[in-house]
Amino acid sequence: MPIIAANFKTNHTRASTAKYVSLLSKYLKTNSTTEVYVFPPLTALDQYETLANFTLGVQNAYPAKNGSFTGEIGTEQLDEFNIKTILIGHSERRHILKETQESIAQKFHYFKTLNYKIIYCIGEPLEVKNEGLDKTLEYLWAQLEGIDTNYENLILAYEPVWAIGTGVTATLEEIQSIHTAIKKVIGKPLLYGGSVNLGNVEKICALPNVDGALIGTASWIAEDFIKIIENTKEL
Ligand code: PEP
Repeated sequence: MPIIAANFKTNHTRASTAKYVSLLSKYLKTNSTTEVYVFPPLTALDQYETLANFTLGVQNAYPAKNGSFTGEIGTEQLDEFNIKTILIGHSERRHILKETQESIAQKFHYFKTLNYKIIYCIGEPLEVKNEGLDKTLEYLWAQLEGIDTNYENLILAYEPVWAIGTGVTATLEEIQSIHTAIKKVIGKPLLYGGSVNLGNVEKICALPNVDGALIGTASWIAEDFIKIIENTKEL
């Protein structure tokens, strides 16, 4: 069963997310062979209809129930919408929001303790990729420092920074070699992310050791995302 996830980032409103979810749910009611996740912006959280193979998660939250963390939300706010799924370690949070490995590991630990499903992202920047496979793997292992990779509700996502939102996808060979190396050490579902789209998703998801895709830009139009699910559902 492939795993296909949509990361809206800072796109979509509450109203457009509702339309998106309604179209997607309608499709998924009769197509249940894919495990689907959608990560909308926090303002779009709502009481959506639940389906066994469709989960709404958050792109971020603060590792606390509640408290004085201006601009953040905690699990009290997530509980209101039955959210039990979170993205942690996304490259935009690491590089733009300056989250450190230490704070990411703390966040992981907090949400693990509450049994959240965690999609945990790792990925190297271009200058590291250019140093070769050994250096790239060294960088990726460092992004797993402090992370319990045996956690039962963990899904990993390999997302090279140079491929995210750039239109430049890693080649099938590049994806395969990194995924194989990761899978040798960690036996968890492993998604690829980085400029995945309707044109390349099938080939990427068909690779050995690729269990699905985490998709940003190409997931933002519901009809396109549904086509992506449709094109990969037999894998
Ligand atoms: C992402 O945000 O996780 C991502 C992979 O983005 P994009 O598909 O736009 O590269």
